[in-house]
Amino acid sequence: MSPESRTKLSDRVTRAAETALAAQSDVSAVDILLGIGWLDPNSLERWRRGQVECLEGLLQTNPSRVSEAMELFRCWALGKGLLARQTDYVARTPRRETLRFSRSGTDAIEEAYRTHWVSPALSEKKRERLAEKASRAPELVAILPTKAGWTCHRCGGTGDLLMMETPGPACLSCAGLGDLVFLPAGDALATRRAKAKSKRYAVVVRFSRTRGRYERQGLLVEPRALPDAE
Ligand SMILES: [Zn+2]
Repeated sequence: MSPESRTKLSDRVTRAAETALAAQSDVSAVDILLGIGWLDPNSLERWRRGQVECLEGLLQTNPSRVSEAMELFRCWALGKGLLARQTDYVARTPRRETLRFSRSGTDAIEEAYRTHWVSPALSEKKRERLAEKASRAPELVAILPTKAGWTCHRCGGTGDLLMMETPGPACLSCAGLGDLVFLPAGDALATRRAKAKSKRYAVVVRFSRTRGRYERQGLLVEPRALPDAE
């Protein structure tokens, strides 16, 4: 890379990093890749859902530019005196598998991608809350359809609830959640307890035409997590 194009890339990385840090108090490689436009949000979403093997396969630039940007980002963060925190990235699938960033899967490279940089000015408590939030697996969502007659794209069946997958709706059995039971919303304590006891769960939502948005109806949890299972 020529010194001139390195300077240009450095400017882009710095701008993306400063913007993300200002908006959310921590900054990661994913923020940089989105910020400089090498990664689009839809591709990121597909990776988050476990539909692609690795994030690098989705980047719209060549691998040497990516490693250059990663190095510039690390230098920027160290220069700012930010603190490094490892963050887990898990897929938004019932199995919650660890997501892979790099084609090579090398530990050092994976670690660089998983690092979130946090301002040392934040209190320890706030930093912990940020790390917890970043590591938390995105919630699975099951939809209570407003119209009957939908078809599962995998088995051709139907059901009371569906999960949206990229090719279309899937029934709960095909999504690997067929054994879960419904716990209606309303009792905040029961909901919290069931969520904590259930390894797998999904939030059930229904589209409200009057309000124009999805609303929570309850949770799907493992039968042993129901309040009266004791
Ligand atoms: Zn099915």
